[in-house]
Amino acid sequence: MEFHGTMRVNLRGHLEIGGCDVVDLAREFGTPLHIFDEDLLRQNCRRFHQAFVHKYGNAEVIYAGKAFLTVAVCRIIQQEGLGLDVVSGGELYTALKAGFPPDRIYFHGNNKSYAELIMALEAGVGRIVVDNFFELEVLARLAEERGQKVPVLLRLTPGIEAHTHEYIRTGQIDSKFGFTLPNGQAIAAVKKVKEMPGLEYKGLHCHIGSQIFDVEPYRHAAEVMMAFIEEIRNTTGLITEELDLGGGFGIVYVEGDNPPPIEAYAEAIMAGVCGEAERRGLKVPKVIVEPGRAIVGTAGSTAYTVGSIKEIPGVRKYVAVDGGMADNIRPALYGARYEAILANKAAAEATEVVSITGKCCESGDMLIWDVALPEVEPGDILLTPCTGAYGYAMASNYNRLGRPAAVLVREGQADLIIKRETYEDLLRYDVLPARLK
Ligand SMILES: *Cc1c(COP(=O)(O)O)cnc(C)c1O
Repeated sequence: MEFHGTMRVNLRGHLEIGGCDVVDLAREFGTPLHIFDEDLLRQNCRRFHQAFVHKYGNAEVIYAGKAFLTVAVCRIIQQEGLGLDVVSGGELYTALKAGFPPDRIYFHGNNKSYAELIMALEAGVGRIVVDNFFELEVLARLAEERGQKVPVLLRLTPGIEAHTHEYIRTGQIDSKFGFTLPNGQAIAAVKKVKEMPGLEYKGLHCHIGSQIFDVEPYRHAAEVMMAFIEEIRNTTGLITEELDLGGGFGIVYVEGDNPPPIEAYAEAIMAGVCGEAERRGLKVPKVIVEPGRAIVGTAGSTAYTVGSIKEIPGVRKYVAVDGGMADNIRPALYGARYEAILANKAAAEATEVVSITGKCCESGDMLIWDVALPEVEPGDILLTPCTGAYGYAMASNYNRLGRPAAVLVREGQADLIIKRETYEDLLRYDVLPARLK
């Protein structure tokens, strides 16, 4: 198994993260427990900042908060000089409560409500990324009513779709997000913005997929967007100052995953943007990227306690842990793969192949099929690395399981950043109507 960040095996033969023994963390905070390696989290931010902002100047890195957002995370993101991308009133509220500078917040979403748009306008968020014609009309009206001039980016569907190992250029696109580029809706949207006194056209956005292991789709997306920027200039005279190329940068979940380094993504993107700018006689726009997974994914791990073990001779050994699909839906949702390590036997050799299952009442509640581990016993602390992105963020209370706690570890110190949900918390929103009493 690949070790990330500050993970190491200590003298007790236990796994350590951020200088904290994972077995001790499990004892102190209980399990399941999300453990965030602060140094690695900051290092991921710095690598992006270095590769884009430091190297090219006119660039910005904004963290896609949907991957994992708490007030503590907002603070770290702010300290590291990144902007923030939010997709709901709840995420925006979290950022504002954390004191995140509103002008560094980008507001995304394909169905922002009136209330969310008003909240964003009142807060003075930096950019609203307009997704569709309905939103354009609503936002323009709200802005005019309030006498505001709202800076916007337009989200486009450029006809490039990328997934882990491949990408496709589709002529006609079938996506719920954004103004479609190839069929003329995108240019129509730009023309509309130009006519709307409440809106100020700043630039364009696209997001071509997630967990992308190839730099080519980014270069391609940059080129397609730059061609469109020329079309905008030629047909409307508008200058596109900002080009946001979204997130999707891949990370290592399991052995064999081989994403390019962040610097290679940056180079491909900047080559595409600058090359096309020169060829077409355009000003190089400010380039924005929105990593989510690549910031928090590897920085987070989940510790569980092993409970029941069921062996079906000749078939499979099921090792059940005290969490599962409620705290990590990704394996059940789209077959995501993880590795595992026994934190209390971190130095031991693997001797058996087992499958890790959760405690939810669903056969699909599997965390890992077939993983090699030292002999597993009830009470062992099993850690799945790389659960920092879309783990807690997608967690549910299925089976009325309380959502886990999360701790931030660094140099031997562990601090809670999310409290564990208690039984009382689970009842907080239950209401018993008088006639049932
Ligand atoms: C999900 C998303 C991101 C972040 O994606 P990652 O794969 O986590 O990097 C960025 N921008 C937009 C618009 C998204 O929807």
